[in-house]
Amino acid sequence: MTDEKILKLKLEVLDEVAEIFKRVDEVAEFNTLKVLNSMREVKVSDAHFKTSTGYAYGDIGREKLEELYVKIFKAESALVRTQFVSGTHALATVLFGILRPGDEMISLTGAPYDTMQTVIGHAVKSKGSLKEFGVGYREIDLTNETNYFDAIKNVVTAKTKLALIQKSRGYSTRKTLTVDDIEKICAAVKSANKNCVTFIDNCYGEFVERREPIEAGADIVAGSLIKNIGGGLAPTGGYIVGRRDLVELTAYRLTAPGMGGELGASLGTPRLLYQGLFVAPHVTAQALKGAIFAAGIFSRLGYKVFPATKDFRGDIIQAIELNRAEKLIAFCRAIQKFSPVDSYAVPEAWAMPGYEDEVIMAAGTFVQGASIELSADGPLREPYAVYLQGGLTFEHAKLAILEAARASVQ
Ligand SMILES: *Cc1c(COP(=O)(O)O)cnc(C)c1O
Repeated sequence: MTDEKILKLKLEVLDEVAEIFKRVDEVAEFNTLKVLNSMREVKVSDAHFKTSTGYAYGDIGREKLEELYVKIFKAESALVRTQFVSGTHALATVLFGILRPGDEMISLTGAPYDTMQTVIGHAVKSKGSLKEFGVGYREIDLTNETNYFDAIKNVVTAKTKLALIQKSRGYSTRKTLTVDDIEKICAAVKSANKNCVTFIDNCYGEFVERREPIEAGADIVAGSLIKNIGGGLAPTGGYIVGRRDLVELTAYRLTAPGMGGELGASLGTPRLLYQGLFVAPHVTAQALKGAIFAAGIFSRLGYKVFPATKDFRGDIIQAIELNRAEKLIAFCRAIQKFSPVDSYAVPEAWAMPGYEDEVIMAAGTFVQGASIELSADGPLREPYAVYLQGGLTFEHAKLAILEAARASVQ
């Protein structure tokens, strides 16, 4: 495409999405106020940014940060730790913390995110999985249902200890859940079995909407600090928020029975976790604008996009079906080339463990693997969909997406 064509396309799309961007800005302002008011109420101060060492008993920075998460998520208790190595670690800690041999869990949103497959161990065999500990597992996919009550009545039984509900589509083309959907699902689960724990995988979902899952009836929620809620500044970590008794069980799993959340040094990171949280509603909005802009550009170029440009969104992921392997590769290489870090690297498709097909990934990020920063990936199989997410600034996302359009559409 000529530069002239690209410029015209860009202006048309920006015009088309102006109204939606206004709504994104309103949600960002709402969530910024939520975070700001929480910081004012719990009285965050410079003293909380100090590092601690050793056992770190009485670490006021760690305690204050968890108090803040409790307020923001309207939870009873929180565990926000850099000792979580990733989102998967936080999610696995919830499952292993709550489930006991002989218990049964059910996924209500189909096959969970790839890295959760080895945690559960039923579809993919793995050492140390829940399956090895004698936890039963079933899954159904409710995401395209409208009547959750009928769908859930038959699958959640008196035996079902925990229901896993993944908000984001992850790397599939199923529908992303909104917090309203989560509310209906949680109500249906509780009516089938009031003791069944409703657990939300909230990765990529934070601050996209005005409410978070606990406000919609979820018992416990977990996610990654190198996605939305870390605001691009958190260097690593994960969080768990929810009912006090449940979060306590997860703390015993993270550290040791009897110890729980009373220990854990914050090392050099506290300020980044606070500051990242403060900018997270804005950064999430930047990423959302990038996703919406990409949908607008590529749908105008004739490609199928999920969600559609103007759809209501529940996460920051944009899928684009590029239909040909060369286009998927060219797209990812363009995103890498327009990254602030490792721009000279040329992504290649490779056989990743746990995936059936080769996968290509672009991520030139400051924090390794941080997908709140602009990144793109996709498996080399029909329909050659690329999954695009993140962008610390919309300006960057816009420039890189236009380069990807230039490179992949001849
Ligand atoms: C990112 C993600 C996870 C966890 O992945 P990590 O790379 O371990 O942080 C789990 N579920 C979903 C839906 C995700 O998007």
